[in-house]
Parts: sequence; structure tokens; C-alpha cells
Amino acid sequence: MANERAGRLYVVATPIGNLGDLSPRARAVLSECALVAAEDTRHTGVLLKHFGIATPQLSLHDHNELERTPDLVSRLRQGASIALVSDAGTPAISDPGFDLVRAAAAAGIEVVAIPGPCAAIAALSIGGLPTDRFCFEGFLPARRSARRKRLEAMLHEARTLVFYEAPHRVHETLEDCTKVFGETRGATVVREITKMHETVYRGSLGEHLARAASDPDFSRGEIVLLIAG
Ligand code: SAM
Repeated sequence: MANERAGRLYVVATPIGNLGDLSPRARAVLSECALVAAEDTRHTGVLLKHFGIATPQLSLHDHNELERTPDLVSRLRQGASIALVSDAGTPAISDPGFDLVRAAAAAGIEVVAIPGPCAAIAALSIGGLPTDRFCFEGFLPARRSARRKRLEAMLHEARTLVFYEAPHRVHETLEDCTKVFGETRGATVVREITKMHETVYRGSLGEHLARAASDPDFSRGEIVLLIAG
């Protein structure tokens, strides 16, 4: 049964490059909560300062989330509302937050979404590949053999595939994708969404691979890779 005195856990999406994308509701929640649980308090500190928000922060990242979760759930139970944020975009989507959300829900705490930016959804919405069904794969394994294996398991996937990738690994990942899915498979690379150098490259895996080798801008900044099913 829900504890009526308990606070709420707000899962708050933050901008992925343009501060104008912080919603008025996100701003209000960040101001009014007792605590902001942030992936990186210095990073979130810049955001809070920009909006004149003085709510105290506590760090919650991949390396301390399990350890910190019981204390946060106990504070929620005692009536404190907490805003969970990551460095950019929607918490718990290839970012910390899942363990806290699960534990809070299991403890009967109300978990409330304050939706907003998410790089995967933003890329899909402008990528020009089918969006009726898609498959979010997050980051591929960093090791080549594990990455190939993961890609091979998707060979017959009919839905649009969505990957996050680090700029220094884009070239290698495109090599592997081309090997597994073939040069002619349709793909879109979306980089620096909402930032000054936002660019959408549409074409085939073979074309993107050639561009990755010849155009240094292609592998700069943050990237979402979409592959046709
Ligand atoms: N939770 C975040 C979200 O909702 O999008 C994703 C966090 S994940 C650690 C970071 C990855 O998201 C980056 O490596 C990149 O693949 C993608 N990403 C984040 N911001 C982006 C942007 N502005 N443009 C393109 N991709 C972005």
C-alpha cells in the first residue's frame, strides 16, 4: 500500500545540448524538491545555477547507485521528494537511475516522469527511417568480438535499430555494422542534436563508412546511429 506521508521520486529529463529545452515543469520540480540526485553534481550544478535553482544535490552514478539507494528510499519514505537527473537527457536511459526507480517503486513510492529530451527519440524523429517499430540497443560492447556477436544476433531484426555511440568508436562500429548487415543497408547518423553543429547524414552503411574515413567532422561530437530493419 502507498505511504501517504511519503515524498515522490521525480525522474526529470534535462537538455541534451540546448538549455532552452528544460521544460517549465522540470524547472519547477527541480526548485521545489528537497534534493536533486545527480549523475555528476558539478555538471548539474551548472544547469541549476543557470536557472537560479538552489536545491541541494547528492551524487548518484553507476558506481554508487546500489549503495546510495536504500538511504534515498528512506528519505522518500519520510516525506522528502527527490528529483533524479543525469548529465543529459532522460535518466535511466543508458544512464544511472534504474536501481533507484525500481527500489522506490517496490517501496510503494510514487515515481513521476517529467519527460523531455532523449537523444534516441530525437534522432528517430528526424532520421527518416521507419519509426512505427524500433528497437533501442543503447551502447554496443566496446570489444570488437562482443560487438560483432551482438550485431549478428540482430541480423533478422525487422525494426529500426537505434544505437548510442562514442565518437572515437564510430568508425569501428560502422565497419562491423557494414560487415554484418551489408553495405547497402539504409542507415542514418545523427550528431550533435540541438547543438550548433547538429547534422543528419542519411544514406547507406557503406556510404557512412566511407565518410567516416574521409570527413573528420563525421566522428566529432555526440552521435546516434539508426539502422534500417
Ligand atoms: N540518457 C540520455 C538520453 O536520454 O538521451 C543518453 C545518455 S548516454 C550516456 C549518452 C549518449 O547519448 C551519447 O554517447 C550519444 O550517443 C547520445 N547523445 C546524447 N546527447 C546527444 C546529442 N546531443 N546528439 C546526439 N547524440 C546524443
